[in-house]
Amino acid sequence: MAKYSSKINKIRTFALSLIFVGFIVMYIGIFFRNSPLIMSIFMLLGVIFIIASTGIYFWIGMLSTKAVQVVCPNCEKATKVLGRVDMCMHCNEPLTLDASLEGKEFDQKYNKKEKRIEQ
Ligand SMILES: [Zn+2]
Repeated sequence: MAKYSSKINKIRTFALSLIFVGFIVMYIGIFFRNSPLIMSIFMLLGVIFIIASTGIYFWIGMLSTKAVQVVCPNCEKATKVLGRVDMCMHCNEPLTLDASLEGKEFDQKYNKKEKRIEQ
């Protein structure tokens, strides 16, 4: 897994892992079927994780509408920049909308690769 990835991709990965955690927690609950109280707690926790994940997916949708759509100078695919600096969703190319921020929020080794997107 890349050290840096697009913010939207990161949140999406987090939401997906929450769904898995939710299912695992509910699955663990099945082992406690002799104790309805413990089973209910696990089931409820699982449902909470899945609801939280749905909420995060909704939030990604909101963020996507605010993100600036640009064409990546590196892979030439359309991607979304969230905030002033973000990574390309496809190739993890660092992208910035603000030239004054170049090299400030990324690791030093990305400095040379920083590119300014003309709007
Ligand atoms: Zn790219």
